[in-house]
Amino acid sequence: MPPHSSPQPPADTLPTDVRVSFVGAGPGHPDLITLRGLATLRAADAVVHDALVPTAILDLANPAAIRIPVPRDPLASDPGEATGRLLVELAREGGRVVRLKGGDPGVFGRLTEETDPLRAAAIPFEIVPGVTALLAAAATAGVPLTNRTGASHLTILTGHEADDKTIPLDLRTLAALPGTLAVYMGVAKAARWAAALLSAGRSAATPVTIVSRCSWPDEQIATATLGTLAEAFETHRWPSPAVVIVGCLAAPPAATPERPLTGRRILLTRPAGQADGLAAALGAVGGEALPIPVVQIGAPPSWAAVDDAIRQAATFDWIVFASVNGVKAFADRLRAAGRDARILGTARVAAIGSATAAALGDAGLACDLVPATASSEGLVAALLPTLRAGRVLLIRADRGRDVMRRELEAGGNEVVEVAAYTTSPVASLDPLAESRLDAAPIHWVTITSGLIAESAVRLFGERMRGWRIASLSPVTTQVLERLGFPPDCEAGEASAAGLVEAICRIEGSALGIRGPAGTASRDKPTVPAELP
Ligand code: SAH
Repeated sequence: MPPHSSPQPPADTLPTDVRVSFVGAGPGHPDLITLRGLATLRAADAVVHDALVPTAILDLANPAAIRIPVPRDPLASDPGEATGRLLVELAREGGRVVRLKGGDPGVFGRLTEETDPLRAAAIPFEIVPGVTALLAAAATAGVPLTNRTGASHLTILTGHEADDKTIPLDLRTLAALPGTLAVYMGVAKAARWAAALLSAGRSAATPVTIVSRCSWPDEQIATATLGTLAEAFETHRWPSPAVVIVGCLAAPPAATPERPLTGRRILLTRPAGQADGLAAALGAVGGEALPIPVVQIGAPPSWAAVDDAIRQAATFDWIVFASVNGVKAFADRLRAAGRDARILGTARVAAIGSATAAALGDAGLACDLVPATASSEGLVAALLPTLRAGRVLLIRADRGRDVMRRELEAGGNEVVEVAAYTTSPVASLDPLAESRLDAAPIHWVTITSGLIAESAVRLFGERMRGWRIASLSPVTTQVLERLGFPPDCEAGEASAAGLVEAICRIEGSALGIRGPAGTASRDKPTVPAELP
Protein backbone atom coordinates (compact mmCIF):
# COMPACT_ATOMS: atom_id res chain seq x y z
CA MET A 1 0.00 0.00 0.00
CA PRO A 2 1.49 3.39 -0.87
CA PRO A 3 2.06 5.84 1.97
CA HIS A 4 -0.76 8.34 2.32
CA SER A 5 -0.17 11.98 3.08
CA SER A 6 -3.87 12.79 3.45
CA PRO A 7 -6.39 10.79 5.49
CA GLN A 8 -8.36 9.86 2.43
CA PRO A 9 -6.43 9.04 -0.71
CA PRO A 10 -8.02 10.79 -3.67
CA ALA A 11 -9.10 8.50 -6.48
CA ASP A 12 -6.30 9.71 -8.75
CA THR A 13 -3.67 8.26 -6.41
CA LEU A 14 -5.07 4.77 -6.93
CA PRO A 15 -2.88 2.49 -9.03
CA THR A 16 -3.67 3.02 -12.71
CA ASP A 17 -2.63 -0.34 -14.06
CA VAL A 18 -4.97 -2.28 -11.78
CA ARG A 19 -8.20 -3.39 -13.43
CA VAL A 20 -9.87 -5.27 -10.59
CA SER A 21 -9.67 -4.41 -6.89
CA PHE A 22 -10.70 -6.94 -4.26
CA VAL A 23 -11.87 -4.67 -1.46
CA GLY A 24 -12.54 -5.77 2.10
CA ALA A 25 -15.76 -4.08 3.23
CA GLY A 26 -15.26 -4.88 6.92
CA PRO A 27 -17.94 -6.54 9.03
CA GLY A 28 -20.87 -4.33 8.04
CA HIS A 29 -20.86 -0.83 9.50
CA PRO A 30 -19.68 1.70 6.91
CA ASP A 31 -17.17 3.23 9.31
CA LEU A 32 -15.21 -0.01 9.40
CA ILE A 33 -14.05 0.05 5.78
CA THR A 34 -10.52 1.36 5.21
CA LEU A 35 -9.88 4.78 3.66
CA ARG A 36 -8.21 3.06 0.74
CA GLY A 37 -11.20 0.75 0.31
CA LEU A 38 -13.49 3.77 0.31
CA ALA A 39 -11.44 5.64 -2.29
CA THR A 40 -11.40 2.54 -4.50
CA LEU A 41 -15.15 2.11 -4.15
CA ARG A 42 -15.76 5.75 -5.04
CA ALA A 43 -13.74 5.37 -8.22
CA ALA A 44 -15.45 2.14 -9.32
CA ASP A 45 -17.36 1.74 -12.59
CA ALA A 46 -18.69 -1.68 -11.57
CA VAL A 47 -19.13 -3.15 -8.10
CA VAL A 48 -19.51 -6.91 -7.81
CA HIS A 49 -20.59 -7.52 -4.23
CA ASP A 50 -21.56 -10.29 -1.87
CA ALA A 51 -25.34 -10.36 -1.54
CA LEU A 52 -25.02 -9.69 2.17
CA VAL A 53 -22.92 -6.50 2.02
CA PRO A 54 -25.17 -3.92 3.74
CA THR A 55 -26.70 -1.19 1.60
CA ALA A 56 -25.04 1.48 3.76
CA ILE A 57 -21.68 0.28 2.40
CA LEU A 58 -22.89 -0.07 -1.18
CA ASP A 59 -24.16 3.50 -0.97
CA LEU A 60 -20.55 4.66 -0.49
CA ALA A 61 -19.76 3.55 -4.05
CA ASN A 62 -19.73 5.83 -7.06
CA PRO A 63 -23.48 6.32 -7.70
CA ALA A 64 -22.92 5.79 -11.43
CA ALA A 65 -21.30 2.38 -10.92
CA ILE A 66 -23.26 -0.68 -11.91
CA ARG A 67 -23.87 -3.05 -9.02
CA ILE A 68 -23.89 -6.78 -9.45
CA PRO A 69 -24.78 -8.97 -6.46
CA VAL A 70 -23.14 -12.39 -6.29
CA PRO A 71 -25.48 -14.99 -4.87
CA ARG A 72 -23.83 -17.09 -2.20
CA ASP A 73 -24.43 -20.63 -3.21
CA PRO A 74 -22.40 -23.13 -1.20
CA LEU A 75 -23.70 -25.94 -3.41
CA ALA A 76 -22.43 -24.40 -6.65
CA SER A 77 -20.07 -26.74 -8.45
CA ASP A 78 -17.46 -24.01 -8.90
CA PRO A 79 -17.87 -21.65 -5.94
CA GLY A 80 -15.91 -18.53 -6.72
CA GLU A 81 -14.80 -19.42 -10.23
CA ALA A 82 -17.98 -18.15 -11.91
CA THR A 83 -17.44 -14.86 -10.10
CA GLY A 84 -13.83 -14.83 -11.27
CA ARG A 85 -14.96 -15.28 -14.87
CA LEU A 86 -17.47 -12.45 -14.45
CA LEU A 87 -14.64 -10.24 -13.18
CA VAL A 88 -12.60 -11.10 -16.28
CA GLU A 89 -15.50 -10.13 -18.54
CA LEU A 90 -16.10 -6.85 -16.74
CA ALA A 91 -12.40 -5.98 -16.72
CA ARG A 92 -12.25 -6.55 -20.48
CA GLU A 93 -15.12 -4.12 -20.99
CA GLY A 94 -12.85 -1.44 -19.47
CA GLY A 95 -13.32 0.73 -16.41
CA ARG A 96 -12.48 -0.04 -12.82
CA VAL A 97 -14.00 -3.14 -11.30
CA VAL A 98 -14.36 -3.53 -7.56
CA ARG A 99 -15.04 -6.93 -6.04
CA LEU A 100 -16.46 -5.95 -2.66
CA LYS A 101 -16.24 -8.70 -0.08
CA GLY A 102 -17.35 -8.87 3.54
CA GLY A 103 -14.60 -8.57 6.17
CA ASP A 104 -11.21 -9.20 4.61
CA PRO A 105 -11.09 -10.68 1.09
CA GLY A 106 -8.52 -13.27 2.12
CA VAL A 107 -10.36 -14.79 5.09
CA PHE A 108 -12.78 -17.48 3.98
CA GLY A 109 -13.35 -15.38 0.89
CA ARG A 110 -12.78 -17.86 -1.94
CA LEU A 111 -10.06 -15.53 -3.06
CA THR A 112 -8.06 -18.19 -4.87
CA GLU A 113 -11.05 -19.29 -6.95
CA GLU A 114 -11.91 -15.71 -7.86
CA THR A 115 -8.37 -14.60 -8.68
CA ASP A 116 -7.36 -17.69 -10.70
CA PRO A 117 -9.36 -16.67 -13.80
CA LEU A 118 -7.84 -13.16 -13.61
CA ARG A 119 -4.34 -14.59 -13.37
CA ALA A 120 -5.04 -16.88 -16.31
CA ALA A 121 -6.26 -13.92 -18.36
CA ALA A 122 -3.26 -11.79 -17.27
CA ILE A 123 -5.53 -9.12 -15.84
CA PRO A 124 -3.80 -7.07 -13.13
CA PHE A 125 -5.60 -6.99 -9.81
CA GLU A 126 -4.97 -5.77 -6.27
CA ILE A 127 -6.24 -6.67 -2.81
CA VAL A 128 -7.34 -3.95 -0.41
CA PRO A 129 -7.52 -5.45 3.07
CA GLY A 130 -10.53 -5.17 5.34
CA VAL A 131 -11.34 -5.62 9.02
CA THR A 132 -12.15 -9.29 9.30
CA ALA A 133 -15.23 -10.20 11.39
CA LEU A 134 -13.14 -11.66 14.20
CA LEU A 135 -11.16 -8.49 14.84
CA ALA A 136 -14.28 -6.35 14.92
CA ALA A 137 -16.07 -8.88 17.12
CA ALA A 138 -13.22 -9.13 19.63
CA ALA A 139 -13.00 -5.35 19.81
CA THR A 140 -16.69 -4.75 20.34
CA ALA A 141 -16.89 -7.50 22.97
CA GLY A 142 -13.73 -6.30 24.70
CA VAL A 143 -12.03 -9.70 24.39
CA PRO A 144 -8.25 -9.80 23.98
CA LEU A 145 -7.29 -12.38 21.36
CA THR A 146 -3.89 -13.12 22.85
CA ASN A 147 -2.39 -12.62 26.27
CA ARG A 148 0.95 -13.22 27.89
CA THR A 149 -0.18 -15.97 30.24
CA GLY A 150 -2.64 -18.17 28.43
CA ALA A 151 -2.96 -17.50 24.74
CA SER A 152 0.14 -16.97 22.70
CA HIS A 153 -1.40 -17.96 19.40
CA LEU A 154 -4.65 -17.45 17.58
CA THR A 155 -6.28 -19.85 15.11
CA ILE A 156 -9.04 -18.92 12.72
CA LEU A 157 -11.09 -21.90 11.62
CA THR A 158 -14.34 -22.71 9.92
CA GLY A 159 -17.10 -24.45 11.83
CA HIS A 160 -18.69 -25.54 8.59
CA GLU A 161 -16.28 -27.87 6.90
CA ALA A 162 -17.09 -28.65 3.30
CA ASP A 163 -18.44 -32.18 3.12
CA ASP A 164 -16.05 -33.21 0.38
CA LYS A 165 -12.97 -32.05 2.26
CA THR A 166 -10.34 -34.77 2.24
CA ILE A 167 -8.30 -33.49 5.20
CA PRO A 168 -10.75 -32.57 7.95
CA LEU A 169 -9.78 -29.92 10.42
CA ASP A 170 -7.62 -31.54 13.03
CA LEU A 171 -9.68 -30.46 15.99
CA ARG A 172 -7.80 -32.87 18.23
CA THR A 173 -4.52 -31.01 17.66
CA LEU A 174 -6.21 -27.64 17.97
CA ALA A 175 -7.92 -28.65 21.19
CA ALA A 176 -4.60 -29.64 22.73
CA LEU A 177 -3.06 -26.21 22.08
CA PRO A 178 -3.75 -23.49 24.62
CA GLY A 179 -4.36 -20.63 22.18
CA THR A 180 -7.50 -18.82 21.18
CA LEU A 181 -9.80 -20.33 18.55
CA ALA A 182 -12.00 -18.13 16.38
CA VAL A 183 -14.76 -20.04 14.67
CA TYR A 184 -16.29 -18.58 11.50
CA MET A 185 -19.41 -20.08 9.91
CA GLY A 186 -19.92 -21.94 13.15
CA VAL A 187 -23.63 -21.37 13.86
CA ALA A 188 -25.23 -24.29 12.04
CA LYS A 189 -22.85 -26.91 13.34
CA ALA A 190 -22.02 -25.42 16.77
CA ALA A 191 -23.05 -28.58 18.61
CA ARG A 192 -20.78 -30.68 16.40
CA TRP A 193 -17.55 -28.71 16.65
CA ALA A 194 -18.07 -27.91 20.35
CA ALA A 195 -18.48 -31.64 21.09
CA ALA A 196 -15.38 -32.43 19.03
CA LEU A 197 -13.29 -29.94 21.01
CA LEU A 198 -14.61 -31.31 24.30
CA SER A 199 -13.93 -34.91 23.38
CA ALA A 200 -10.43 -33.90 22.29
CA GLY A 201 -9.80 -32.65 25.79
CA ARG A 202 -10.65 -28.95 25.92
CA SER A 203 -12.16 -28.06 29.27
CA ALA A 204 -15.94 -27.60 29.45
CA ALA A 205 -15.25 -24.43 31.45
CA THR A 206 -13.38 -22.76 28.56
CA PRO A 207 -14.90 -19.31 28.12
CA VAL A 208 -16.69 -18.62 24.85
CA THR A 209 -17.86 -15.29 23.41
CA ILE A 210 -20.45 -15.16 20.65
CA VAL A 211 -20.78 -12.01 18.54
CA SER A 212 -23.75 -12.12 16.22
CA ARG A 213 -24.10 -9.59 13.38
CA CYS A 214 -21.11 -7.63 14.56
CA SER A 215 -21.38 -3.86 13.86
CA TRP A 216 -24.87 -4.30 12.35
CA PRO A 217 -27.76 -2.45 13.94
CA ASP A 218 -28.92 -5.64 15.67
CA GLU A 219 -25.51 -6.74 16.96
CA GLN A 220 -25.60 -9.13 19.94
CA ILE A 221 -22.79 -10.14 22.25
CA ALA A 222 -23.17 -13.14 24.53
CA THR A 223 -20.99 -15.39 26.64
CA ALA A 224 -21.09 -19.08 27.45
CA THR A 225 -18.63 -21.88 28.07
CA LEU A 226 -17.60 -24.65 25.73
CA GLY A 227 -19.75 -26.99 27.83
CA THR A 228 -22.91 -24.87 27.55
CA LEU A 229 -22.39 -23.57 24.03
CA ALA A 230 -24.54 -26.07 22.12
CA GLU A 231 -27.47 -25.56 24.47
CA ALA A 232 -27.01 -21.77 24.43
CA PHE A 233 -27.21 -21.75 20.64
CA GLU A 234 -30.31 -23.90 20.78
CA THR A 235 -31.98 -21.56 23.28
CA HIS A 236 -30.97 -18.17 21.92
CA ARG A 237 -30.77 -18.84 18.19
CA TRP A 238 -28.37 -15.97 17.60
CA PRO A 239 -28.75 -15.00 13.99
CA SER A 240 -26.00 -15.37 11.38
CA PRO A 241 -23.48 -14.20 10.66
CA ALA A 242 -21.77 -14.85 13.95
CA VAL A 243 -18.22 -15.39 15.15
CA VAL A 244 -17.45 -17.54 18.15
CA ILE A 245 -14.28 -16.86 20.12
CA VAL A 246 -13.15 -19.82 22.22
CA GLY A 247 -10.61 -19.98 24.94
CA CYS A 248 -9.35 -16.57 25.80
CA LEU A 249 -10.92 -14.26 28.32
CA ALA A 250 -14.68 -14.07 28.32
CA ALA A 251 -16.14 -10.72 27.44
CA PRO A 252 -16.50 -8.56 30.52
CA PRO A 253 -20.17 -8.27 31.44
CA ALA A 254 -20.93 -5.29 29.26
CA ALA A 255 -23.46 -2.68 30.23
CA THR A 256 -26.16 -3.13 27.65
CA PRO A 257 -26.18 0.00 25.56
CA GLU A 258 -29.51 1.70 25.32
CA ARG A 259 -30.42 1.52 21.65
CA PRO A 260 -34.19 1.58 21.54
CA LEU A 261 -34.41 1.19 17.76
CA THR A 262 -32.26 -1.95 17.62
CA GLY A 263 -33.60 -4.26 14.93
CA ARG A 264 -35.84 -1.56 13.45
CA ARG A 265 -35.58 -0.74 9.73
CA ILE A 266 -36.58 2.79 8.87
CA LEU A 267 -37.29 4.00 5.37
CA LEU A 268 -35.86 7.45 4.59
CA THR A 269 -37.60 9.19 1.73
CA ARG A 270 -35.61 12.43 1.44
CA PRO A 271 -33.81 13.37 -1.79
CA ALA A 272 -30.63 11.46 -2.67
CA GLY A 273 -27.65 12.54 -0.60
CA GLN A 274 -29.80 14.44 1.91
CA ALA A 275 -30.67 11.72 4.38
CA ASP A 276 -27.26 11.40 6.03
CA GLY A 277 -28.07 13.40 9.16
CA LEU A 278 -31.23 11.43 9.75
CA ALA A 279 -29.49 8.11 9.03
CA ALA A 280 -26.75 8.96 11.55
CA ALA A 281 -29.25 9.99 14.22
CA LEU A 282 -31.18 6.73 13.72
CA GLY A 283 -27.99 4.66 13.70
CA ALA A 284 -26.95 6.14 17.04
CA VAL A 285 -29.97 4.54 18.69
CA GLY A 286 -29.65 1.24 16.87
CA GLY A 287 -32.00 1.86 13.93
CA GLU A 288 -31.14 0.76 10.41
CA ALA A 289 -31.76 3.48 7.85
CA LEU A 290 -32.92 2.47 4.40
CA PRO A 291 -32.74 5.41 1.98
CA ILE A 292 -35.24 5.33 -0.89
CA PRO A 293 -35.70 8.90 -2.15
CA VAL A 294 -39.23 9.68 -3.34
CA VAL A 295 -38.50 13.25 -4.44
CA GLN A 296 -35.61 14.74 -6.35
CA ILE A 297 -33.90 18.13 -6.42
CA GLY A 298 -33.17 19.83 -9.75
CA ALA A 299 -31.96 23.13 -11.17
CA PRO A 300 -34.57 25.76 -12.07
CA PRO A 301 -35.38 26.05 -15.79
CA SER A 302 -33.40 29.29 -15.83
CA TRP A 303 -30.93 30.90 -13.45
CA ALA A 304 -31.95 34.42 -14.51
CA ALA A 305 -34.06 35.16 -11.42
CA VAL A 306 -31.40 33.88 -8.99
CA ASP A 307 -28.63 35.78 -10.83
CA ASP A 308 -30.76 38.95 -10.81
CA ALA A 309 -31.42 38.60 -7.11
CA ILE A 310 -27.70 38.18 -6.43
CA ARG A 311 -26.89 41.35 -8.41
CA GLN A 312 -29.47 43.29 -6.40
CA ALA A 313 -28.71 41.63 -3.07
CA ALA A 314 -27.57 44.84 -1.39
CA THR A 315 -30.96 46.50 -2.04
CA PHE A 316 -32.72 44.16 0.40
CA ASP A 317 -33.05 44.53 4.16
CA TRP A 318 -33.18 40.78 4.68
CA ILE A 319 -32.24 37.75 2.59
CA VAL A 320 -34.12 34.73 3.88
CA PHE A 321 -33.05 31.17 3.15
CA ALA A 322 -35.79 28.55 3.55
CA SER A 323 -33.59 25.46 3.10
CA VAL A 324 -30.11 24.05 2.70
CA ASN A 325 -30.75 23.52 -1.02
CA GLY A 326 -31.52 27.22 -1.45
CA VAL A 327 -28.23 28.14 0.22
CA LYS A 328 -26.31 25.75 -2.01
CA ALA A 329 -27.86 27.12 -5.21
CA PHE A 330 -27.33 30.74 -4.13
CA ALA A 331 -23.71 30.11 -3.14
CA ASP A 332 -23.00 28.25 -6.42
CA ARG A 333 -24.37 31.13 -8.53
CA LEU A 334 -22.49 33.66 -6.42
CA ARG A 335 -19.25 31.80 -7.08
CA ALA A 336 -20.12 31.31 -10.77
CA ALA A 337 -20.52 35.09 -11.07
CA GLY A 338 -17.08 35.57 -9.55
CA ARG A 339 -18.57 37.43 -6.57
CA ASP A 340 -18.47 36.88 -2.81
CA ALA A 341 -20.28 37.89 0.38
CA ARG A 342 -19.45 41.58 -0.15
CA ILE A 343 -22.24 41.76 -2.75
CA LEU A 344 -24.73 41.48 0.12
CA GLY A 345 -23.75 44.93 1.42
CA THR A 346 -25.85 45.78 4.49
CA ALA A 347 -28.52 43.15 3.80
CA ARG A 348 -28.98 40.85 6.77
CA VAL A 349 -29.31 37.09 6.42
CA ALA A 350 -31.86 34.76 8.03
CA ALA A 351 -32.07 30.94 7.97
CA ILE A 352 -35.15 28.87 8.73
CA GLY A 353 -33.23 26.52 11.03
CA SER A 354 -29.83 25.45 12.28
CA ALA A 355 -28.92 23.19 9.33
CA THR A 356 -29.60 26.02 6.88
CA ALA A 357 -27.54 28.34 9.09
CA ALA A 358 -24.71 25.79 9.05
CA ALA A 359 -24.91 25.61 5.24
CA LEU A 360 -24.61 29.41 5.12
CA GLY A 361 -21.53 29.17 7.30
CA ASP A 362 -20.03 26.56 4.95
CA ALA A 363 -20.64 28.97 2.07
CA GLY A 364 -18.82 31.78 3.91
CA LEU A 365 -22.03 33.71 4.67
CA ALA A 366 -22.74 34.70 8.27
CA CYS A 367 -26.31 34.24 9.49
CA ASP A 368 -27.92 37.01 11.54
CA LEU A 369 -31.09 35.23 12.58
CA VAL A 370 -32.34 31.68 13.18
CA PRO A 371 -35.83 31.42 14.70
CA ALA A 372 -36.41 29.40 17.86
CA THR A 373 -38.93 27.24 15.97
CA ALA A 374 -37.72 25.90 12.62
CA SER A 375 -40.78 26.66 10.50
CA SER A 376 -42.11 29.34 8.15
CA GLU A 377 -44.28 30.64 10.97
CA GLY A 378 -41.33 30.72 13.37
CA LEU A 379 -39.26 32.70 10.90
CA VAL A 380 -42.01 35.22 10.22
CA ALA A 381 -42.54 35.69 13.96
CA ALA A 382 -38.84 36.36 14.47
CA LEU A 383 -38.49 38.67 11.45
CA LEU A 384 -41.59 40.86 11.62
CA PRO A 385 -40.62 42.82 14.72
CA THR A 386 -37.41 43.95 12.96
CA LEU A 387 -39.13 45.09 9.76
CA ARG A 388 -40.98 48.29 8.82
CA ALA A 389 -41.84 48.62 5.14
CA GLY A 390 -38.74 46.60 4.36
CA ARG A 391 -37.60 44.64 1.33
CA VAL A 392 -37.13 40.90 1.74
CA LEU A 393 -35.53 38.46 -0.69
CA LEU A 394 -36.83 34.94 -0.15
CA ILE A 395 -34.70 32.10 -1.54
CA ARG A 396 -36.78 28.92 -1.71
CA ALA A 397 -37.97 25.90 -3.70
CA ASP A 398 -40.24 26.13 -6.72
CA ARG A 399 -43.12 24.78 -4.71
CA GLY A 400 -44.29 24.60 -1.14
CA ARG A 401 -46.25 26.80 1.16
CA ASP A 402 -46.76 30.52 0.66
CA VAL A 403 -46.88 31.48 4.32
CA MET A 404 -43.73 33.56 4.52
CA ARG A 405 -44.50 35.79 1.55
CA ARG A 406 -48.11 36.35 2.58
CA GLU A 407 -47.34 37.15 6.20
CA LEU A 408 -44.40 39.39 5.44
CA GLU A 409 -46.45 41.28 2.85
CA ALA A 410 -49.34 41.54 5.28
CA GLY A 411 -46.84 43.18 7.63
CA GLY A 412 -46.31 45.90 5.02
CA ASN A 413 -43.12 44.60 3.44
CA GLU A 414 -42.12 44.03 -0.16
CA VAL A 415 -41.16 40.42 -0.83
CA VAL A 416 -39.22 39.11 -3.83
CA GLU A 417 -39.45 35.33 -4.05
CA VAL A 418 -36.88 33.39 -6.05
CA ALA A 419 -37.08 29.67 -6.79
CA ALA A 420 -33.47 28.51 -6.56
CA TYR A 421 -34.19 24.81 -7.13
CA THR A 422 -36.99 22.48 -8.10
CA THR A 423 -38.39 19.57 -6.15
CA SER A 424 -40.26 16.91 -8.04
CA PRO A 425 -41.65 13.48 -7.24
CA VAL A 426 -39.63 10.44 -8.32
CA ALA A 427 -41.61 8.86 -11.18
CA SER A 428 -41.23 5.22 -10.18
CA LEU A 429 -39.19 2.97 -7.95
CA ASP A 430 -36.13 1.50 -9.65
CA PRO A 431 -35.33 -2.22 -9.30
CA LEU A 432 -32.71 -1.49 -6.63
CA ALA A 433 -35.30 0.32 -4.49
CA GLU A 434 -37.79 -2.49 -5.04
CA SER A 435 -35.28 -5.10 -3.98
CA ARG A 436 -34.45 -3.08 -0.86
CA LEU A 437 -38.12 -2.90 0.04
CA ASP A 438 -38.44 -6.66 -0.33
CA ALA A 439 -35.18 -7.60 1.39
CA ALA A 440 -36.46 -7.49 4.99
CA PRO A 441 -39.38 -6.10 6.95
CA ILE A 442 -39.72 -2.33 7.26
CA HIS A 443 -40.95 -0.92 10.55
CA TRP A 444 -41.05 2.84 9.96
CA VAL A 445 -41.18 5.38 7.15
CA THR A 446 -40.17 9.00 7.74
CA ILE A 447 -42.13 11.68 5.91
CA THR A 448 -40.56 15.11 5.95
CA SER A 449 -42.72 17.28 3.68
CA GLY A 450 -46.12 17.41 2.03
CA LEU A 451 -44.64 16.64 -1.38
CA ILE A 452 -42.79 13.65 0.08
CA ALA A 453 -46.06 12.45 1.66
CA GLU A 454 -47.86 12.59 -1.69
CA SER A 455 -45.03 10.92 -3.56
CA ALA A 456 -44.58 8.20 -0.91
CA VAL A 457 -48.27 7.32 -0.95
CA ARG A 458 -48.22 7.14 -4.75
CA LEU A 459 -45.07 5.00 -4.90
CA PHE A 460 -45.59 2.71 -1.90
CA GLY A 461 -49.39 2.65 -1.83
CA GLU A 462 -50.99 0.09 0.44
CA ARG A 463 -47.57 -1.20 1.50
CA MET A 464 -47.42 1.87 3.77
CA ARG A 465 -50.28 0.48 5.86
CA GLY A 466 -47.88 -2.11 7.22
CA TRP A 467 -45.38 0.53 8.36
CA ARG A 468 -45.46 3.08 11.12
CA ILE A 469 -45.30 6.63 9.86
CA ALA A 470 -43.23 9.43 11.43
CA SER A 471 -44.09 12.97 10.35
CA LEU A 472 -41.71 15.93 10.57
CA SER A 473 -44.20 18.71 11.29
CA PRO A 474 -47.86 19.62 11.72
CA VAL A 475 -48.00 20.70 8.07
CA THR A 476 -46.72 17.31 6.89
CA THR A 477 -49.14 15.59 9.27
CA GLN A 478 -52.07 17.46 7.72
CA VAL A 479 -51.12 16.23 4.25
CA LEU A 480 -50.73 12.66 5.50
CA GLU A 481 -54.14 12.80 7.14
CA ARG A 482 -55.72 14.17 3.98
CA LEU A 483 -54.22 11.24 2.05
CA GLY A 484 -55.68 8.76 4.53
CA PHE A 485 -52.35 7.87 6.18
CA PRO A 486 -52.38 9.58 9.58
CA PRO A 487 -48.91 9.39 11.14
CA ASP A 488 -48.10 7.41 14.28
CA CYS A 489 -45.97 10.25 15.61
CA GLU A 490 -44.85 13.77 14.82
CA ALA A 491 -41.52 15.42 15.64
CA GLY A 492 -41.69 17.90 18.52
CA GLU A 493 -38.98 19.93 16.83
CA ALA A 494 -38.71 19.90 13.03
CA SER A 495 -35.25 18.35 12.84
CA ALA A 496 -33.61 14.96 12.41
CA ALA A 497 -33.11 14.73 16.18
CA GLY A 498 -36.77 15.64 16.79
CA LEU A 499 -37.97 12.97 14.40
CA VAL A 500 -35.80 10.26 15.96
CA GLU A 501 -36.92 11.25 19.43
CA ALA A 502 -40.58 10.94 18.39
CA ILE A 503 -39.97 7.45 16.97
CA CYS A 504 -38.13 6.38 20.13
CA ARG A 505 -41.03 7.57 22.26
CA ILE A 506 -43.40 5.28 20.38
CA GLU A 507 -40.95 2.41 20.59
CA GLY A 508 -41.34 2.73 24.32
CA SER A 509 -37.98 3.91 25.41
CA ALA A 510 -36.42 7.19 26.43
CA LEU A 511 -33.63 8.43 24.22
CA GLY A 512 -30.29 7.53 25.76
CA ILE A 513 -27.41 7.30 23.37
CA ARG A 514 -24.63 4.94 24.27
CA GLY A 515 -22.77 2.64 21.92
CA PRO A 516 -20.91 -0.56 22.76
CA ALA A 517 -17.44 -0.17 24.28
CA GLY A 518 -15.17 1.79 22.01
CA THR A 519 -17.87 2.74 19.57
CA ALA A 520 -19.73 5.36 21.53
CA SER A 521 -18.91 8.16 19.12
CA ARG A 522 -19.43 6.09 16.00
CA ASP A 523 -22.69 7.48 14.88
CA LYS A 524 -23.72 10.40 17.01
CA PRO A 525 -26.57 12.37 15.56
CA THR A 526 -24.92 15.40 14.06
CA VAL A 527 -27.30 17.24 11.80
CA PRO A 528 -30.50 18.61 13.18
CA ALA A 529 -31.79 19.43 9.72
CA GLU A 530 -34.60 21.32 8.12
CA LEU A 531 -35.96 18.81 5.74
CA PRO A 532 -37.41 19.82 2.38
N1 SAH B 1 -14.25 -12.59 4.62
C1 SAH B 1 -15.10 -12.54 5.81
C2 SAH B 1 -15.55 -13.94 6.24
C3 SAH B 1 -16.48 -14.60 5.26
S1 SAH B 1 -17.04 -16.16 5.82
C4 SAH B 1 -14.34 -11.84 6.93
O1 SAH B 1 -13.14 -11.60 6.81
O2 SAH B 1 -14.96 -11.50 7.93
C5 SAH B 1 -18.56 -15.73 6.61
C6 SAH B 1 -18.42 -15.80 8.11
O3 SAH B 1 -17.78 -14.63 8.59
C7 SAH B 1 -19.73 -15.84 8.85
O4 SAH B 1 -20.25 -17.15 8.92
C8 SAH B 1 -19.32 -15.34 10.21
O5 SAH B 1 -18.67 -16.35 10.95
C9 SAH B 1 -18.29 -14.30 9.85
N2 SAH B 1 -18.87 -12.95 9.76
C10 SAH B 1 -18.91 -12.15 8.69
N3 SAH B 1 -19.47 -10.96 8.99
C11 SAH B 1 -19.80 -11.02 10.30
C12 SAH B 1 -20.41 -10.11 11.21
N4 SAH B 1 -20.79 -8.89 10.84
N5 SAH B 1 -20.59 -10.51 12.48
C13 SAH B 1 -20.21 -11.73 12.89
N6 SAH B 1 -19.62 -12.63 12.07
C14 SAH B 1 -19.42 -12.27 10.80
